[in-house]
Amino acid sequence: MKFRLKSIGVLLFSLWMFTGCFKWGSRAYDRFPETIALDKNYFYEGKVIIVGAGASGLAAAKILERNHINYEIIEATGRYGGRLQKDTLLADFPMDLGAEWIHNQPGILNKLIGLPGDWTSEELIPYHLESAFSWDGQDYVQTDKEELDAFFNFFPEYKFKNSTWFDYVDDNFAQHVKHKIRFNTPISEIDFSGNHVILTAKNGEEYVADKVLVTVSIGVLKSNMITFNPALSNKKERAINRVDFLPGFKLVMKFSEKFYPDAITFDSDSGEHGYYDMAFKKESDDYILTLLSTGGSPKEYFDVETDEEIVSAALLELDEIFNGTASNTFTGEYELRNWGNEEYILGTWTNAALNKNFNLNALNEPLENKVYFAGEINDAHRQMGVPGAILSGYFAINELLDE
Ligand SMILES: Cc1cc2nc3c(=O)[nH]c(=O)nc-3n(C[C@H](O)[C@H](O)[C@H](O)COP(=O)(O)OP(=O)(O)OC[C@H]3O[C@@H](n4cnc5c(N)ncnc54)[C@H](O)[C@@H]3O)c2cc1C
Repeated sequence: MKFRLKSIGVLLFSLWMFTGCFKWGSRAYDRFPETIALDKNYFYEGKVIIVGAGASGLAAAKILERNHINYEIIEATGRYGGRLQKDTLLADFPMDLGAEWIHNQPGILNKLIGLPGDWTSEELIPYHLESAFSWDGQDYVQTDKEELDAFFNFFPEYKFKNSTWFDYVDDNFAQHVKHKIRFNTPISEIDFSGNHVILTAKNGEEYVADKVLVTVSIGVLKSNMITFNPALSNKKERAINRVDFLPGFKLVMKFSEKFYPDAITFDSDSGEHGYYDMAFKKESDDYILTLLSTGGSPKEYFDVETDEEIVSAALLELDEIFNGTASNTFTGEYELRNWGNEEYILGTWTNAALNKNFNLNALNEPLENKVYFAGEINDAHRQMGVPGAILSGYFAINELLDE
């Protein structure tokens, strides 16, 4: 093992890749639109069905609820939140097993719920790392503190202190609309050939609406799990298939001592692979180290079959850096969320908006003004992640009601 200081360019790049492939915090904040659907009133007499109870679907539903419009949310699984999930069992603080960072200014949390001012009442932790290393399979390289400071000043981002992204969406959206969710009902067909839209669930049951908002992940759309009738246009199919939706997982492990720094980034050909101290700046007596792996690296992990084998592979990787300390201090307790293998998610997130082939207009184009699309990928204001999902829910429902 060899220690040396790392150059700022390489560091910034690897940290950018690790903690937020889409974090352009301040710029995204400035792009937040002046007016959102929360600022308007709507009147609509038809029935709306929202497919998917993730952040996007829940935000859109809140607009329908506020305006007393007849609606229903149809969700494939037995819970709401989609790529947001909270665990309260492993550690003495609530943990996000899905989205975790606020890649934006804190005030975004106010803007998203229609409150004025560049502040938030949420207690946040500035994600300003104090100790970070990188590992390329041979060298364990320490990052200069000044570089970490420069990085935070350039790309400030935050985490919830005693709360989670899941709680934020639960409190501000799900609690208002959860009575309208039909759970365990995966939709397999959307027929918009007639006056009404007919949705058929996997069990054959049919649901009828005047308009439908589809908020499933791009991974689900790519998988063709949902058949559209008439079929999607070639242009829309191409736009969907062009988006890269990286597989990946989050493995949260508990140790009896802290032998690791705030973050360790790994070399990765595509996607991200890195460990971070999940208890960073939390009021916690627990030692929680998390592996976030997306893109190429998890494929190697997917070759092993069980969760236990993924944990063993992670411990082996850490033992190589820390001379066996990981295995010796692992308590045996962990949480693994393999998002790439989740039947109704099929990936992690996308930074498609950075890709010049990304065709947002085609992705967002409604089908005969009856079927609309929203979700993380559909946001036109470059918020991405959870804020992007919420904002796109507002915009799509505005379009659906305005038409
Ligand atoms: C490990 C991980 C880390 C992340 N980190 C961050 C982060 O730090 N910060 C950040 O801002 N973002 C992060 N993200 C991204 C963020 O979680 C997503 O952008 C956001 O939650 C997407 O919300 P959504 O509503 O668009 O989609 P989803 O959350 O995918 O919701 C779609 C819903 O549709 C349901 N569904 C799917 N198929 C069907 C069907 N056939 N019928 C009915 N329902 C269906 C699903 O079950 C799901 O509930 C992360 C994601 C992951 C996985």
